[in-house]
Amino acid sequence: GWRSVCSRRNVCSSPSRLQSCMSAWVIDQYGTNEVLKYSEDINVPTVHSPSEVMIKVHAASLNPLDISMRGGYGAKLLKLRRDPMSVMDNDSEFPLILGRDVSGVVVDCGSEVTHFVPGDEVWAAVPPWKQGSLAEFVTLTEYEVSHKPKLLSHTEAASIPYVANTALSALVNAGGLCRDSSSNKRVLITGGSGGVGTFSIQLLKAWGAHVTVTCSQNAEGLVRGLGADEVVDYTAGDVAEQLEMMEKFDVILDNVGGEMEQLAMGMLKPWSGAKYVTLVTPFLLNTDSMGLLDGTFHAGFTLHSKAIQNLISSGVFYRWGFYAPDGPALDEVSSMVDAGKILPVVEAQFPFTQVPQAFQKLEDGHARGKTVVRVT
Ligand code: NDP
Repeated sequence: GWRSVCSRRNVCSSPSRLQSCMSAWVIDQYGTNEVLKYSEDINVPTVHSPSEVMIKVHAASLNPLDISMRGGYGAKLLKLRRDPMSVMDNDSEFPLILGRDVSGVVVDCGSEVTHFVPGDEVWAAVPPWKQGSLAEFVTLTEYEVSHKPKLLSHTEAASIPYVANTALSALVNAGGLCRDSSSNKRVLITGGSGGVGTFSIQLLKAWGAHVTVTCSQNAEGLVRGLGADEVVDYTAGDVAEQLEMMEKFDVILDNVGGEMEQLAMGMLKPWSGAKYVTLVTPFLLNTDSMGLLDGTFHAGFTLHSKAIQNLISSGVFYRWGFYAPDGPALDEVSSMVDAGKILPVVEAQFPFTQVPQAFQKLEDGHARGKTVVRVT
């Protein structure tokens, strides 16, 4: 069945007809890679509110979160965020579409959308509580969307939004850094060779910071090429020993977690506002295992007690970093990309027919930048 979606609104002149079903990779249950299913009868996510923008997906990319969500990670909290009043007839989150990055073209806009018109090339990071981008179409709020960099192909552009929104939220909101305050700052990025790391190195170098990175020996060329000033090979003996010989840091962005968390505290400048920001947080694991209320309480308690303890003992701030949807932040990244200050780092590309292989690639670990899926 075909029906006209755009004829109601004069802002949308083309295309005038949209299909009602689309193809997408979905899951109907949580599990390993076998639960990923290709389907051609998924409802097209049409524009339902005046501030929504519907995008034809050209490329999507994968994040570690897609692997976790495929296995049910965050299900309790994300379901609540999707349907806070439990008003949906069907209280199941399935069929669930994964994929958090999109680069594509606007095909329809709500009546109050002011920044976009059909035909615009856009990019965005899809919030985890919304249906993802491993589909022909995705619909987002205008605030989450941004004009894509002109210099990049859709495949290149899809590698950036989710890690960019995460890195900016972590470095700016939690780390207290910004374009104008970074030039005299020493920043340590652990796990510098992955998606968040390769983006963060370039952003911080563009802001003038001094950047030290931990990564495997065979990623040294990559991170140095992106601008890293100093590189510590964590596979060559004691990483703490190597880092402790260096001057202390103003900000640490931790993409690795685990024992790094304890070690990092001693590597920050004491009593000078230095901040440790970790992206590896137990928040959604807590809400999954303990339920929403207890999980949130427990996570809040953990964060609070670690923050107090570190402030009292070493005069450093301990913080959790989170992805946050932010189209205007992507606008800034878009101009940095077009100015040649930030390059996409696409390690692997897969056609839409090979989404399970793309997940497998990510699951095998050792990312060197991003894995992208070409949807159109
Ligand atoms: P990637 O998988 O793209 O990158 C991880 C990188 O870390 C790989 O290059 C890996 O390469 C390297 N690595 C692994 N172990 C170590 C180690 N001990 N020391 C240094 N490097 C190491 O992940 P992302 O960059 O996308 O994300 C980073 C982390 O942040 C993930 O845990 C992710 O779940 C989390 N995250 C959290 C968000 C939030 O909202 N809280 C949002 C986005 C990400 P190799 O193994 O070869 O060394």
